[in-house]
Amino acid sequence: MSKTANILVVDDDDFVRASFTNELAAAEYEVATAENGQAALALLAESDFDAALVDIRMPEVDGLTVVREGLKIAPETRMIVITGYASIDTAVEALRYGAYDYLRKPCRSQELLATVARAVENRRLQQEVQLLREDMIDMLVHDLKGPLSIISSAYSVLRDELSALEGGKVARQCLEIAKQGQVRLERLVNTLLEMSRLEAGEPLGEREAVTPLALVRETVSQLKPLADIRDLKLRTEVTSRLPKVRVDRMLMVRVLVNLLDNAIKYSPPEGTVMIGAHHSQADSPAVSFWVRDQGPGIPLEYRERVFEKFTHVPGRQYSGMGLGLAYCRLVVEAHGGRIWVDSPEEGGSIFSLTVPVEEVQDDASGSES
Ligand code: ADP
Repeated sequence: MSKTANILVVDDDDFVRASFTNELAAAEYEVATAENGQAALALLAESDFDAALVDIRMPEVDGLTVVREGLKIAPETRMIVITGYASIDTAVEALRYGAYDYLRKPCRSQELLATVARAVENRRLQQEVQLLREDMIDMLVHDLKGPLSIISSAYSVLRDELSALEGGKVARQCLEIAKQGQVRLERLVNTLLEMSRLEAGEPLGEREAVTPLALVRETVSQLKPLADIRDLKLRTEVTSRLPKVRVDRMLMVRVLVNLLDNAIKYSPPEGTVMIGAHHSQADSPAVSFWVRDQGPGIPLEYRERVFEKFTHVPGRQYSGMGLGLAYCRLVVEAHGGRIWVDSPEEGGSIFSLTVPVEEVQDDASGSES
C-alpha cells in the first residue's frame, strides 16, 4: 500500500470498538473511532476514510442511516456493515444503499482484515483508474483541439467552393454529415476543457443578466428538432415575472441542454418532456430551473452518484461518457447554486437546479406552456 489506509470504526460497544481498533492498528492501519452514528457522520464530513466498519444496531442514528447519509458526505469511503445473524435483512438493505460489504458478528480477525484489505484495495484501484482517465482526457483534449480547428476551416472552404458549383448533391450531403460529427466532437472537447478549468478553480467567464425565459427558449430551440424526431411533446412552463439571473450564458444553456437532452434520450416514444423555471425561496432568493421526463427515473442509491464523472445507472442503455451531469454540477456550483434529482412515485425524473438571484429586477420574463 502506498499510503497508510484510514479506517473508521463505528460501534456503540466499547469492547468491540477496542478490539477492532487493536486488530487494525496491528495491521498498520490508521484507525479512528466513533461511538455513535452522529459522531461517525461528523468524522466522515471532516476526514477522508478509505473504509468504515459500521455496526448496524446502534441507538438513535443506526448503521443504516450512517451508510446512507455517510455515502452522501463521503461517497468514496467503502462502508462495511457489521451485523448480527438476526439483522441480515438490514445488511442486504445496506448493500442496496451502496455499502461495499458486510461482516457477521462475531467475526474472526482473519475475516475482518481480509474484508478491510479488499475494500481499501478496491478504493485505491478506483482512484488510480480515475487519475489515468483524467490524464488521458487531458492529453486527448489538447491533441484534439488543433486538428479540430483545421477540420473546421477546411469545411468552410469546401462548403463555399461547393456552393459555387452545379450539382454535387451527394458531396454536399456528405459534407453536412461530416459537419455534424465535427460539432459533436467540438462540444465534447469544449465540455472537457471547461470541466478541467472549473475543477482547477478558475473563475467563470463574464456573467450577464438574463431572463430565465430566454435561457429556456434558447435551450428548447436547440433540442426541438431532436424531440420531433423522437415523437416527443416538449412543453415549457416558465412562471411570469421571474427576476433575471446573472450567469455565464453559454455555460448555463449548455447545462440545460444536457438535462433536456438526457430527458429526451431516456423518454419513451410519444411521451412528454417538460422544462420550466420558477421562483424559489427555499434557502435564499433563487430561480429554480427543472427538467422533467417520463423515463425510467433514477434509483435512490444513484441520485447523488449520477453527478459524479463516468457514472451510468446499471442496466440502462447509454451513449455518452457519463460526463454530462458532472459538468452540470460543476457549472451550477460555480454559479453558487445547487443541482439534484428526484424521481416521483408516478415515474420519470425531475432534474432541478437553482441559481441565486443577485439583484431583484422588475422585468417580467413572461410565461408560456
Ligand atoms: P451521459 O453523457 O452518459 O448521458 P450523464 O452524466 O448525462 O452521462 O448521465 C449519467 C447517467 O445518468 C446516464 O448514463 C444514465 O444512466 C443516467 N441518467 C441521466 N439522465 C437521466 C434521465 N433523464 N433519466 C434516466 N436516467 C438518466
